[in-house]
Amino acid sequence: MKYALIALLVIIILLGIFTCPQKSSIAPEIYKVVRIVDGDTFIAHIDARDVRIRLIGVDTPESVHPNKEVEHFALEASAFLKELLEGEEVFFIYDQNNSATNHKDRYERVLAYTYRARDSLFVNAEIIRQGYGHAYSRYPFTRLEEFLKLERDARHQKLGLWAETDEYPAISDSLVWFNAGSNKYHRQSCRYTSDKSLSMSKNEAIAKDFQACKVCKP
Ligand SMILES: [Zn+2]
Repeated sequence: MKYALIALLVIIILLGIFTCPQKSSIAPEIYKVVRIVDGDTFIAHIDARDVRIRLIGVDTPESVHPNKEVEHFALEASAFLKELLEGEEVFFIYDQNNSATNHKDRYERVLAYTYRARDSLFVNAEIIRQGYGHAYSRYPFTRLEEFLKLERDARHQKLGLWAETDEYPAISDSLVWFNAGSNKYHRQSCRYTSDKSLSMSKNEAIAKDFQACKVCKP
């Protein structure tokens, strides 16, 4: 079982490398980290340019959005990414779901799975595993299930963002759940949710004009 998992992982990594449009060899290219922007974004030096990299599949609380206040745990998330990547070199793997946009989001940031070069630490997953961000389910990506599991485990252990404090007693209660293709949001315990349901913050659901379920009244 363990070897099957490792083999699968190797296949996924190789697929990622082979499907990346700019790469022709197996050895990934290594890039220098220039600076950290916030908990899920940083700048890397690629082909003599400074390029903004958005860690795919993970979302951390906002710290630099011009129109928003600094959210709870934003500074911690930003400091955590610094701890992982400042002064480091990285390599990237891209997700086939973004190949149509050449692996860029609408802000022209490069969407990538990022690995720390010296030990191959999978940075996107590490952020979620240690509770500094949640799985970002708004856009499709191949490793969603894996990231959702890491998020569930971090929540159960009340790590980082999921820890209860006097000031933020129930941040995890502010999350709601929804099903792909539906614009209703639910409590996690609702009979309309399942293992396949995705989560987002209640504020985000309201901002997106989602409707509260009349059964579970989230
Ligand atoms: Zn419901």
